Amino acid sequence: MEFNTEKYDVSILGSGPAGYFAAIKLSQLGKKVLLVEKDKIGGVCLNVGCIPTKTMIQGAKVFDEILNAEQYGITVNKPSVNSNIFVRPNNVAVQVCKNLESLLNKNNVNVVKGNAFLEDKNSISVILDNCEKQYFKSEKIIIATGSRPKLLKDINVDRKRIFTSNEVFSLGRVPKSIVIIGAGAIGAEFAYIFSTLQTKVYIIEIADQILPCEDKDISEYIARVLKRKGCEMFTSFKVEGIIQKEASLEVNVASENRQAKIESECVLVCVGRTPNIDNIGIEKLGIRCDKGYIEVNKFMQTSIKNIYAVGDVLNTPAFAHVAYHEALAASENICGVKKASGVRYDLVPKITYTEPQTATIGINQKQAEEIYGNNCKASKIYFKANAKAHTINNNEGFLKVITNKKLELLGASIVGPDASELIHQLALIKYANISLDRVKNVIFGHPTLSEIIWEISNLAAIGKTIHN
Ligand SMILES: Cc1cc2nc3c(=O)[nH]c(=O)nc-3n(C[C@H](O)[C@H](O)[C@H](O)COP(=O)(O)OP(=O)(O)OC[C@H]3O[C@@H](n4cnc5c(N)ncnc54)[C@H](O)[C@@H]3O)c2cc1C
Repeated sequence: MEFNTEKYDVSILGSGPAGYFAAIKLSQLGKKVLLVEKDKIGGVCLNVGCIPTKTMIQGAKVFDEILNAEQYGITVNKPSVNSNIFVRPNNVAVQVCKNLESLLNKNNVNVVKGNAFLEDKNSISVILDNCEKQYFKSEKIIIATGSRPKLLKDINVDRKRIFTSNEVFSLGRVPKSIVIIGAGAIGAEFAYIFSTLQTKVYIIEIADQILPCEDKDISEYIARVLKRKGCEMFTSFKVEGIIQKEASLEVNVASENRQAKIESECVLVCVGRTPNIDNIGIEKLGIRCDKGYIEVNKFMQTSIKNIYAVGDVLNTPAFAHVAYHEALAASENICGVKKASGVRYDLVPKITYTEPQTATIGINQKQAEEIYGNNCKASKIYFKANAKAHTINNNEGFLKVITNKKLELLGASIVGPDASELIHQLALIKYANISLDRVKNVIFGHPTLSEIIWEISNLAAIGKTIHN
């Protein structure tokens, strides 16, 4: 084994949100850092996940606004979507990745392009893009190799008519029809995108509701919105098989007592994610795993103490913001920072960027009732009671909070305009444990969507509010 003469303090496998965040943080804390990436810098989030999907959602939203322009007193003749709607997400992703590359450079992170493998607890090998193999010594190692789309047995993702979220942007045209298998956050967001672009969307979901991890009333609300947009829902159904026909695909679906055949131009498989933990050497080193994910302690250490793991390789909520905080916890612990950050998993906002958006924090009503029984209560207020929501022509949805006897926030769910922004005010309230009868004394500007938080604090505290 011939080692690269440079020895690193920390080597990181993977440059998604978990890996790049740790690289920059560790470098800022004075460590000599190596970051290895086998594909594109920025990982799933920047290249095929958060950033391109949210750019595409913005395109769909603008189209929807234009279609409804008459409501603002603006006449627009026959707007239509062209293939550039698929190009912009990639352009935005390229720009964001370029910014990241210059950040890594500015922070003196040594980036190596290639496939990394754990050789032993203090060394990794990298097969470089030119097929040459190099070895690097490192005091600590962080595994941040992320995840890939889960596939279904017997469904061959051919990237021509059957896609996962990785390839769907290469479609390049708005299909006439699409079957989306799986209606978690990713499936629901694509259902919003395609139905807004006037594709006929069929949603197949094995659970009895779309957004299966959400509060029932949130899931029902989004189901109603998507149905209004023409989506056909097959909940409690699973896909039995797909028959390739010349001009279409025949998707056979079945529930306990019903079968159906759906003719569609293409299929998008969104049935979850699989952690990238095979072929990186963890079995060889005996790193402990559970249910296919790497096991870590609260310092993000694996069963081998100088090897850490963060991000989608862990069985924690698969979000970029969770990856950031796990990377922060690992980095601070590696550097022995006093009062190092732990990850507050009870404070993770869960967001779906449909329109209206959904956002939740803490526990939901059902969980609260199971834990606290009569010692908790739910208060709900509708965006119809919010003046700003009317001015922006988006008064769909509601905010629900669950509080304990002391009016402390146990959880909150929003479905409505800018839910992805509003949820962070509730996160702060929960983090600081401010009771809602104190929040009601805070002066909120008018007209703002945020006023809904003031109104609900009044409702929770005194049972009444002015505008509901
Ligand atoms: C369609 C979609 C939309 C999403 N939208 C959101 C959203 O809006 N908000 C949100 O918070 N989250 C979103 N997510 C989830 C988010 O993208 C992930 O949680 C996040 O990317 C996880 O970061 P990570 O660094 O753990 O892994 P990844 O982003 O998967 O990065 C891992 C990196 O490691 C590299 N790698 C793997 N093996 C090796 C190896 N052996 N050697 C070198 N490099 C290797 C990979 O090439 C990859 O670049 C979305 C995901 C998808 C698929």
